[in-house]
Amino acid sequence: MSNVATSFGIEEALQELGINETNHGTSTGSNWMPGTDEIASYSPVDGALIGKVTTTTKDEYEQVIASASEAFKSWRVMPAPQRGEIVRQFGEELRRLKEPLGKLVSYEMGKSYQEGLGEVQEMIDICDFAVGLSRQLHGLTMHSERPGHRMYEQYHPLGIVGIISAFNFPVAVWSWNTALAWICGDVCVWKPSEKAPLCGIACQKIAAKVFADNNLPEGISCLINGDYKVGEYMTQDKRVPLVSATGSTRMGKIVAKTVGERLGKSLLELGGNNAIIVTPDADIKMTVIGAVFGAVGTAGQRCTSTRRLIIHESIYDQVKKALVDAYGQLRIGNPLDENNHVGPLIDTDAVAMYNQALEKVVAEGGNIIVPGGVLEGEGYESGCYVKPAIAEANNSYEIVQHETFAPVLYLLKYSGDVENAIDVQNGVAQGLSSAIMTNNLREAERFLSHAGSDCGIANVNIGTSGAEIGGAFGGEKETGGGRESGSDAWKVYMRRQTNTINYTTELPLAQGIKFDL
Ligand code: NAD
Repeated sequence: MSNVATSFGIEEALQELGINETNHGTSTGSNWMPGTDEIASYSPVDGALIGKVTTTTKDEYEQVIASASEAFKSWRVMPAPQRGEIVRQFGEELRRLKEPLGKLVSYEMGKSYQEGLGEVQEMIDICDFAVGLSRQLHGLTMHSERPGHRMYEQYHPLGIVGIISAFNFPVAVWSWNTALAWICGDVCVWKPSEKAPLCGIACQKIAAKVFADNNLPEGISCLINGDYKVGEYMTQDKRVPLVSATGSTRMGKIVAKTVGERLGKSLLELGGNNAIIVTPDADIKMTVIGAVFGAVGTAGQRCTSTRRLIIHESIYDQVKKALVDAYGQLRIGNPLDENNHVGPLIDTDAVAMYNQALEKVVAEGGNIIVPGGVLEGEGYESGCYVKPAIAEANNSYEIVQHETFAPVLYLLKYSGDVENAIDVQNGVAQGLSSAIMTNNLREAERFLSHAGSDCGIANVNIGTSGAEIGGAFGGEKETGGGRESGSDAWKVYMRRQTNTINYTTELPLAQGIKFDL
């Protein structure tokens, strides 16, 4: 164990979560399969090897699907509130293990310990939400046109839900899917990101204990590991009716095509290019806090990170100065140390993309006002720590149109009415999160109107990141159109059936059609 890991209690956390030096990466619950090639998980915090995970073979994948298919038969007929009770117990286990799991998230992924704890809190929140929902999986009744007939719609479980997740929310995204899918009567097979496989092992162990304690069969919660090739086992598999995939737009386009070709359902949560509009009526202090947290929190590696600030020309210089001052106070370093604001990027490939983005914005005519750079020396040995940067740019630049998963913020100036700012905000391919900072009711309402923001999330006087689980989460356009988490997002995990019952002795046909024998 490295010095950092020892000083911040990582060893104890790993022990509590049952993480070993080498871990089997394939599981149907209590049954873990040996697998093949190992994925080594290095911490971006200090570059140390945390542990290894074996990848899933095709033969093991077949065993997982067989086990999940068998489990579905009994899980789907268990009353939904009883399934909710299992999810409640899972939420209790997460409460008990919040600190070690939050630490593992922070150490394996690189987000701050506070954000790691926040991610586990989101898991607990979605469990609470799902428990209540398990008593309200409601359908709809409607009046039949035929006398003595009753008509209604009901929802049934789908079957196996395949979950493919990204590195930046290595535990929460799985739980958003799985807590809802479980109460809906589905069973889940999860492929975590190959960049954060240990988080997957820890979660699977927590879930497996709850299922085993309740004498439930293997296969309700399954784990597979590996890169995109293992993900493809699921996207190509017609026994997996729904694939929920979170990650880059590049990945989403491939997954949508593969799942679509077999007419499966996909739920896509892809990249964003999120903006905050700052109007002349904005509260500048709130704007700066929201923009800085949005741009540098999780080192700019949230799907909802603020990438563009669209500022009215009349307050542009004032906002620019306040941002430069705020960036001057940022402390970059070990994310487990609560004195630091910004931790590392996930790996050195991400650092290379960050460097390329800064070179590109300059080449396209941008003006860097807070210079970036890769940090070196004591505490930065992993090579993953970068300085958050700000560049003045134009929305038409190719690099501004692109999601760079790093702390690079682009300042864009607008003049005239708020409509002009909304056009800039909507003028990208992605449609995840958006915000307006204004105390002007008319501007706020225009931003939220039919002709306003085209994103799945539109906030007023709040930044772009940090959604709550109660609302449906997701985005439009190249963000993929999927919705997860709160509201009626559960419906995607179920199939809808329309039922008509005739309680007469006649057989009238719909639309008054006559067919006499
Ligand atoms: P990524 O696309 O590289 O990988 C995501 C997952 O997809 C991984 O598990 C990977 O193994 C798998 N994968 C890749 N290609 C695949 C294929 N062809 N078939 C099946 N599986 C495949 O993304 P990443 O770098 O881990 O995460 C960052 C991206 O995720 C960003 O674009 C970010 O905006 C996005 N993201 C979106 C949301 C959202 O809710 N909209 C949430 C988190 C992250």
